[in-house]
Amino acid sequence: MGAGDVIGAGSLSGFHARSIADREGFWGELAALIDWQAPFERVLDYSRPPFTRWFVGGRTNLCHNAVDRHLAARRDQPALIYVSTETDDERVYSFGELHREVMRMAAIMRELGVRRGDRVLIYMPMIPEATFAMLACARIGAIHSVVFGGFASHSLASRIDDASPVLVVSADAGSRAGKVVPYKPLLDAAIDLARNRPANVLMVDRGLVPFERVAARDRDYAQLRERHLDAEVPVEWLESNEISYTLYTSGTTGVPKGVQRDVGGYAVALAASMKYIFCGNAGETYFSTSDIGWVVGHSYIVYGPLIAGMGTIMYEGTPLRPDAGILWKLVEKYRVTVMFSAPTAIRVLKKQDPSWLTRYDLSSLRTLFLAGEPLDEPTARWIGEALGKPIVDNYWQTETGWPILTVAHGVEKTPTRLGSPGMPMYGYDVRLLHEQTGEEVGTNEKGVVAIMPPLPPGCMQTVWGDDERFVKTYFSTIPGRLAYSTFDWGIRDEDGYYFILGRTDDVINVAGHRLGTREIEESLSSHPAVAECAVVGVADALKGQVAMAFVVLKDPSRAAADDARMALEGELMATVDKQLGAVARPSRVHFVTLLPKTRSGKVLRRSIQAICEARDPGDLTTIEDPGALEQLRRAVGLQA
Ligand code: AMP
Repeated sequence: MGAGDVIGAGSLSGFHARSIADREGFWGELAALIDWQAPFERVLDYSRPPFTRWFVGGRTNLCHNAVDRHLAARRDQPALIYVSTETDDERVYSFGELHREVMRMAAIMRELGVRRGDRVLIYMPMIPEATFAMLACARIGAIHSVVFGGFASHSLASRIDDASPVLVVSADAGSRAGKVVPYKPLLDAAIDLARNRPANVLMVDRGLVPFERVAARDRDYAQLRERHLDAEVPVEWLESNEISYTLYTSGTTGVPKGVQRDVGGYAVALAASMKYIFCGNAGETYFSTSDIGWVVGHSYIVYGPLIAGMGTIMYEGTPLRPDAGILWKLVEKYRVTVMFSAPTAIRVLKKQDPSWLTRYDLSSLRTLFLAGEPLDEPTARWIGEALGKPIVDNYWQTETGWPILTVAHGVEKTPTRLGSPGMPMYGYDVRLLHEQTGEEVGTNEKGVVAIMPPLPPGCMQTVWGDDERFVKTYFSTIPGRLAYSTFDWGIRDEDGYYFILGRTDDVINVAGHRLGTREIEESLSSHPAVAECAVVGVADALKGQVAMAFVVLKDPSRAAADDARMALEGELMATVDKQLGAVARPSRVHFVTLLPKTRSGKVLRRSIQAICEARDPGDLTTIEDPGALEQLRRAVGLQA
């Protein structure tokens, strides 16, 4: 039986039921969607819960499946379509050309001492060389760790320390909305801060900004590439459970977690999602507006579309430059069939002249997928009507690598429901559990969105270098059960559609990007004027949430005068910019003389958040000093 004939296809509920009742049979069949150099001996090894091993003993390679596998049938077809509206650059790499570039990059990495299992940190803007670097790592069995270019030196240093890379691949600069953003000074500062310094830094010089080279460490990509133009670097066949990459994500502590993925499970999960969820076909074009620094970029700019034999657009630019029609212009030009974006991008477009959406021929486009943050009904309705195309919301996390909740139109044409990402995907045994009892909640009752292990292929294997943290963070918060917590609240209606209600922890979601409030607090606290602070996520019409900071100064008189207060607010924002990056900058910094705390000293973040959103702060019987709330109300401009 071929992978297309999996029993139960035709009904999502049947498909899903089988994926849970017969995991080995189900995934064993889907494994035929990718190439294996050696077959697996076992589909699933779940002998050490909650650790899960998929396709044990099978040998494969992500780069082979993304590139080499397609050479016979589509060597000259577009694979990587690079468009930068920042530098006015447009380059199309066929599968054959991509193969060449990846082998050159792989040869350079080898020359710089990168071996199987070594880490390579990729700190790059959206340029083709970033994709070459990811695929080159996959090819030679090195573990890549892409750090989003919007992060600055402290964030970068903590990731360098955790990954201890032998090589960092970077570039002189990125560019955002026409403004050059130098990367090299941030990288140099990060390496200075780090304890585990890389031996080599491979620099792609885009010619955007001059930079200093550190002798004996910094190497020039263009020069090395010349030396390896004809390089032939065969793929390393990896056991399915070897590590393909780590990707850092924010949590409730200041230390980011390295989400670690395997090789075979990830490849199968992505291939299956391209078939059943995204319905993308080989030879077509996929366009995700995400960034390679995020999980969507890993799964649906680089690996997913390429594994499916699709051309993939890598776009450096904003949705508004040179004008608000740019995304649709690209859809027309490259005959995009599947598009993936985030609600924030659509909300940005909603403020523009709607005629931009009808100027281009969008007949190739079948579906627009949106993910990363809650998709509000007005935005979903607006874009759906304006495009005249189906809009599909999908809910997932860095940890899962592919959608948990959505609809799978490759299985069944289940209708979508506004405000709901959809239903559990095959492989995910999703439950809504009571936070205190661990029992399943009833229809239309709020519970924690949890997944009963084993987690399906493609999900994280563990936290890099810290199995204990993996178990403790994700599998130990629901009483009485070994269940994976997403840390999101959800409800399910009578028809089985889920609705996501927000986070259960202190993580905020700004424009589809998850940020730990603790990281921002730590950064603010490093400023010498700050005694203590609290950061909360506050609802924002455009970005979903923004970070709002409340700061207690060592010397409150420093914020007494208006101009001094504004200057200090600017300084604190600059501190966050410098350490973490502009992505984490609070939208406002308010000065107060005390924070609302419980008598045991715990900051009442939920109450702060409620006040900022003009909601009822809830049960305040444990508050130490109610005066703190009055100050907060005044600070955010509400009556006490
Ligand atoms: P990240 O790992 O950065 O992709 O963030 C994952 C988190 O973003 C989830 O745990 C949710 O809180 C939120 N999220 C992602 N997709 C959706 C969605 N479609 N609807 C609501 N929230 C979402």
